[in-house]
Amino acid sequence: PLALHTDYIRDHIRTVPDWPAPGVQFRDITPLLQNPKVFRVLIDEFVHRYFDVRPQAIAGLDARGFIIGSVLAYELNIGFVPIRKKGKLPFTTVAESYELEYGSATVELHTDAVQAGDRVVLIDDLIATGGTMMAGKRLLEKLGATVIEGAAIVDLPELGGSARLRESGLPLFTLVDFA
Ligand code: AMP
Repeated sequence: PLALHTDYIRDHIRTVPDWPAPGVQFRDITPLLQNPKVFRVLIDEFVHRYFDVRPQAIAGLDARGFIIGSVLAYELNIGFVPIRKKGKLPFTTVAESYELEYGSATVELHTDAVQAGDRVVLIDDLIATGGTMMAGKRLLEKLGATVIEGAAIVDLPELGGSARLRESGLPLFTLVDFA
């Protein structure tokens, strides 16, 4: 990615301190989506990354991964599959649970969302602890697909999630780091 582009993208991410809990710096991508010029630059970064890679599908993580993942899939002329929070998908599903700071979360994927052997790019807005993306990877692998790369707009490297994901063998592509 061009430094010019990543700075432009970073400048349109709003930081909301102490939301949703004290001590959390929430990195809000809505200003980025609202601005048609920067939204286009953002999507084009991912399009250029995957144009020649020809994955079979883009899998997006609930909910901001849907926004960028569906546009990316459309631009690449491939399918989009949603990985949703528990209880939202109507057909038969596979499920994966993971630990949060307080309690746990479960994500689900339709059993016919991908085929065994598919090469899939998994996308979300942000990687913090990496738990969400790891759970998404496990879901796709349960169906026999290969996650060729995890993609996100933002990485929070100090939380160690991106390092853990890479150690697990998942290549990552992220555009902006926040300390
Ligand atoms: P994690 O599973 O810890 O990597 O958390 C990633 C998920 O939580 C993503 O879907 C993000 O949208 C959301 N998230 C976690 N921390 C933040 C943050 N500081 N700002 C914005 N979104 C966050």
